[in-house]
This record gives sequence, structure tokens and C-alpha cells, in this order.
Amino acid sequence: MTIRTTVWGENVHEKKSKIVAELYPKGMHNAIADFLNHAEEIEASSVTLQDPEHGLTADKLASTDVLIWWGHAAHGEVSDEIVERVADNVYGGMGLIVLHSGHFSKIFKKLMGAPCNLTWREAGERERLWVTSRQHPIARGLPDHFELEQEEMYGEPFGVPEPLETVFVSWFQGGEIFRSGLTYRRGAGSVFYFRPGHEAYPTYYDDNVQIVLTNAVRWAHNPAERTLNVHDAPNIVVEEALEPITARGPKLHEDGEEGYR
Ligand code: ZN
Repeated sequence: MTIRTTVWGENVHEKKSKIVAELYPKGMHNAIADFLNHAEEIEASSVTLQDPEHGLTADKLASTDVLIWWGHAAHGEVSDEIVERVADNVYGGMGLIVLHSGHFSKIFKKLMGAPCNLTWREAGERERLWVTSRQHPIARGLPDHFELEQEEMYGEPFGVPEPLETVFVSWFQGGEIFRSGLTYRRGAGSVFYFRPGHEAYPTYYDDNVQIVLTNAVRWAHNPAERTLNVHDAPNIVVEEALEPITARGPKLHEDGEEGYR
């Protein structure tokens, strides 16, 4: 079984900032795809915002089991049509892992139906991540806690709906805390938000971060066939009811009609 994984990178900081370009000479998206490819069952490739259709053509998404999303400076440049396409694939069963500043991406905000806002500070603080769900597959192989020597601070309140599961919470040197690993289900798709990953720090080279994301890809993979036509809302006419019934009372709709949207 192969888990076909696509890493979507905004690829803007890498081009504009010398610091980021030196840290991630092949881009953050390729750094992530590279370590994921060390896992035997994962086959990771990367696409970027600058590719035609942002690299997320219907064919590419149909052959993607898990999509990873890193965006920050150009959320607004992602086309709404592509966002809808990604969302439909999530509803149909594609896994989605949203990283760090992806909390403000169009796709994450759409799937959360919430502002997804938070407090933040870029001061190179130590982040200590605590595993809050020791038996969770995403935490497999990790110590009870681990540290990232330099990270951007994200603090509560985090404007997201209550998650299905909280897998990590973070503490920062300045005193703030944050729910830094959250799971959701949207339709048939599993969604994981993972907080670390500021572009100015070497976070994606950290062994524990790599374990988290490798585990998350396995967790988010739904091996069932992708559900198509996720927006269908068919009218079941009286004659097709499983038990015999007779229509009664007033009605506004014609049998078998499309219904309103
Ligand atoms: Zn950041």
C-alpha cells in the first residue's frame, strides 16, 4: 500500500528572503517531501502556488491520498475555485494536514467555518510540545514532550471549533500556551492541524517534527475509494420509499425535482 502524498508549498518566502532560502534551499515543500519519502509506504511529491492551477489539478487531487498545506504570505492569491476543489476532495476522503501559518489559509478557514485567529510573536522562543493523547497514532514513537529551541509563538485563544482530538499542546518561553495538534473530520476526510513550522527556523529538520508529520500522513490516509459528487442531495420520491407510504398534506416540491441551493 502506497500513500500518495502531495506537499503544497506557497514558495514565496523561499524566493524573497535570504534567511529562508538558506535554510530551505530546495524550498520548504521539498524539505518536507524529502523526509516523508524516507517512510517506506509514503510516496511524496511537491507542488507550488506558482504551478498552473497551483499544482492542484483535478487529476493531481484524484491521485493524492494526503495533501499537506504550507501557506503564509499569499493566502489571498489562492483561487477560490481551487479551494472548492480541494474541499470537495477532503469531503470525499482525501486527508489534509495544515501546517503553521496555514491556519489562515482559505482552505482551512472554509473547513473550520471559523475565524481561525490567534495571538503571535516572532521572538525565537523555545517551544515545548506536550503529548496530550499518548495512545494517538500521530504521537507514536514520541517522548512525552519535546522542544524546539526557536519558534514563533502562537497563543490562545485559537479561533477554531472544538477539535475531535487534541494531540499536542505547546508552551512558549514567554508564558503562552496553544493547542498545537488538532484533529477534525470533514465528510470522509481526516484533517490535522500542526502548529510548528515558522519559515525562519529549521523546524522541518527536527526529528520529532518529522515523526509527527510522518505519523500524521499515515493517520490521515483513508484507503476507501474517494466519494464523488459530494454535493448531491437527491429527492427520494414516494414510490421509492423503502416502506409503502402515501403522500399526504400540502407540498411545495415536485417529485424528483432538484431542490433549491
Ligand atoms: Zn510563522
